[in-house]
Amino acid sequence: MAKCVMVLYPDPLDGYPPKYARESIPVIECYPDGSSLPSPSVIDFRPGELLGCVSGALGLRKFFADGGHELVVTADKEGPHSEFEHHLSDADIVISQPFWPAYLTKDRFARAPKLKLALTAGIGSDHVDLDEARARGVTVAEETYSNSISVAEHTVMQILALVRNFVPAHRWAATGGWNIADCVARAYDIEGMDVGVIAAGRIGRAVLERLRPFGVRLHYFDVHRLPAEVESDLGVTYHPDVESLAASVDVASIHSPLIAQTHHMFNDKLLKSMRRGSYIVNTARAQETDQKAIVAALESGHLAGYAGDVWYPQPPSPDHPWRTMPNNAMTPHVSGTSLSAQARYAAGTREILEDWFAGRPIRSEYLIVEGGRFAGTGAVSYQQ
Ligand code: NDP
Repeated sequence: MAKCVMVLYPDPLDGYPPKYARESIPVIECYPDGSSLPSPSVIDFRPGELLGCVSGALGLRKFFADGGHELVVTADKEGPHSEFEHHLSDADIVISQPFWPAYLTKDRFARAPKLKLALTAGIGSDHVDLDEARARGVTVAEETYSNSISVAEHTVMQILALVRNFVPAHRWAATGGWNIADCVARAYDIEGMDVGVIAAGRIGRAVLERLRPFGVRLHYFDVHRLPAEVESDLGVTYHPDVESLAASVDVASIHSPLIAQTHHMFNDKLLKSMRRGSYIVNTARAQETDQKAIVAALESGHLAGYAGDVWYPQPPSPDHPWRTMPNNAMTPHVSGTSLSAQARYAAGTREILEDWFAGRPIRSEYLIVEGGRFAGTGAVSYQQ
């Protein structure tokens, strides 16, 4: 029998389950690269249900009960008196989501001597101290590709929201106004702009593909260049470093993993090298930008707008400066947890657990750390 502590975001304020807007979600046959969707033996939820909150429990309550395991589901994750810390001492498995991350620090690892498996429901395991996981032989896994397209769609929405000045215009409409001039005094067309992505991995490339029909000039920087035929098909210009890309675009969208090389990549110096009136969208990780430098660049008007859904820490304090900085179109960390995405990563979490309990290998593309080493996707994405 194993003990699993699952840290999920709180239920909706109006209670659970919510009244759903639609009956179902579209059926997807496979991921864009042809790889297969999660394939657990069975699922105990209806795709389209809210699974990522405490009452949703990723649709796994029956799975753990049937296996005779103990499952604790909580949203209480901060500080030494939190329910998460209380149950960590004898937990075998921790499951958390980047949207409401249970930070697994070195200190917390030390207080979790039985921990063997740290699962990310979604993508992005940087809330887990991966060096410590390797040192302790803890397996870390996530559901690669499960929400990549969800994030790409949110990114395109936020680019358009910034450039078209959507948020203030909506505010005028919702508050009884018809202030056309106030709405459009900062509104532009994206057509003809230079738009670049930092990292053309699963998400970055999906953003490029979705932006191609907008009549923009596309750019990218990545540590590895895309095949020539892909570059030509996308009509995208390659930049050998982020400095070159930043100086060449009107819109920069960040899609690189948070590692030492990308930490505070968009600092004061890089921001000043960008064209006046540039926009930045960051749906990767907040610490890839320098929080104070972003606020200063928006206040001075050098940046025309900043959007994204990633903050540090999460949740941010009520007075976090990014909540109120000028010309922002921030959302909470939601891009990768649409109901469509939840169905995929909940099924993927179950697939990993089924394999884990049966002693079968976990799919290589889901692995981040195994046997004291970066493995699978982790060996590609997190190895520095
Ligand atoms: P991928 O692994 O598919 O792509 C990451 C890309 O970044 C790869 O092409 C990689 O190159 C490149 N890269 C690695 N190091 C650097 C570097 N120093 N500078 C520039 N590029 C680099 O990941 P995804 O596209 O699926 O996800 C990207 C990030 O998005 C994740 O790390 C995660 O933090 C974030 N994310 C956010 C979500 C949200 O809800 N907001 C949800 C999902 C992910 P190569 O492979 O050649 O090494």
